[in-house]
Amino acid sequence: MKIISNYCQHTIVKDLVLIGGGHSHAIALKMFGMKPLTGVRLTLITANQKTAYSGMLPGHIAGFYTHEECHIDLKPLANFAQANLYIDRVVALDLENNKVLCANGLVVDFDVLSIDIGSTPARMSVSGAAEYAIAAKPVSQLLEHWDELIAAVGKNPQELIRIAIAGGGAGGVELALAIQSHLHQIQQIPNLEMHLFHRQMELMPNYHQSVRHQIQQILTERGIKLHLGENVCNIVPKNHKKTQEIFEIKCESGLTVECNKIFWVTQASAPEWLKIAGLGTDEQGFILVEDTLQSQTHPQVFASGDIATMVNYPRPKAGVFAVRQGKPLFENLQRILLGKSLKPYKPQKQYLSLIGTGDGQAILTKGIFTLPPHKLLWHYKDCIDRRFMERFHFQKNE
Ligand SMILES: Cc1cc2nc3c(=O)[nH]c(=O)nc-3n(C[C@H](O)[C@H](O)[C@H](O)COP(=O)(O)OP(=O)(O)OC[C@H]3O[C@@H](n4cnc5c(N)ncnc54)[C@H](O)[C@@H]3O)c2cc1C
Repeated sequence: MKIISNYCQHTIVKDLVLIGGGHSHAIALKMFGMKPLTGVRLTLITANQKTAYSGMLPGHIAGFYTHEECHIDLKPLANFAQANLYIDRVVALDLENNKVLCANGLVVDFDVLSIDIGSTPARMSVSGAAEYAIAAKPVSQLLEHWDELIAAVGKNPQELIRIAIAGGGAGGVELALAIQSHLHQIQQIPNLEMHLFHRQMELMPNYHQSVRHQIQQILTERGIKLHLGENVCNIVPKNHKKTQEIFEIKCESGLTVECNKIFWVTQASAPEWLKIAGLGTDEQGFILVEDTLQSQTHPQVFASGDIATMVNYPRPKAGVFAVRQGKPLFENLQRILLGKSLKPYKPQKQYLSLIGTGDGQAILTKGIFTLPPHKLLWHYKDCIDRRFMERFHFQKNE
């Protein structure tokens, strides 16, 4: 446990503890900083001091943004919100006694708890995946592997490298395009081979047909080999040379492909400790919340972002929803602490999505409406994302 800021300026009446520095909590913290509540001690417990902004993550991998540009530093944000900040990983909850238990032994009491810890890719349980594949989350680990890969390719740009991505949702597709785009900047094109495995016959199942069609066309034109309707069931190390590892990716159909690096971007999943704590969860282990973002089973617990499933409004696990939930979450946390009734929140059904294609262009889509890749759309996306991040730039005296 690392305590990096400590606030306790008033007589404390209630403890509000936030777990995870995800998108909704970043927004809620900013709002608590602008509208503090006296008598409430605010504490953030999060695994990393810097949290990635999902909108700019593929752009960072493609080489358009620095690490700093696409990360929110939670330390100045917590300072602004006058919140205690503990850098630690929560591993359990005691909901009878209202306690949070952290990996390093820290125990934190709460009156009201809010959880925004994101998700991790499912099916790391596929044989060999946990050992040999690189999970897209936690982002900090993904980026460590990515930096190593870039350095290795930079040293040996002549060497053939074969990269596989398991998962053809929006995250997997954007990651594939971003990886290819960056590697092409440092490597000779014929030396890069890319494979995308997806268990369904169509990519990006949460999107309209028109987007799926365009994305499939772009991937094919760029020479990314698509393995649709293929379920990866085994990853076997073949040969460990000093410079490059080789793995065999085996699919249920019998298809076998050799690769050097495998990125795992499958469906989102939740940690076990939420269910073990007794929180009401859906079949995948995500916390079931009412329209107020309050747990269905524990009124002292709130949840938002990927880790929450709104019972009445299920939505895909995407950063855009986590961002939108920030304000209603803040308002309801304030309301419960003030003893007021909570307000329901209804997320949009159709939302504007800008999907980067890794080459300085983006596709725009909303519902059935889609615009093909264009530089102006990337520019538009870039402006939106940079404006979002500006909210978390603090002057030293703020
Ligand atoms: C490669 C890739 C690209 C993507 N691109 C997009 C995109 O372009 N647009 C989009 O909308 N979505 C995108 N997504 C999805 C998006 O990343 C998630 O939906 C979004 O990050 C969810 O936000 P969140 O607030 O729920 O949690 P997160 O942003 O994941 O934040 C969770 C936070 O909780 C902390 N944490 C986790 N576990 C613990 C714990 N046990 N204890 C304490 N702290 C903990 C983490 O350190 C992190 O700071 C992408 C996903 C991937 C994998």
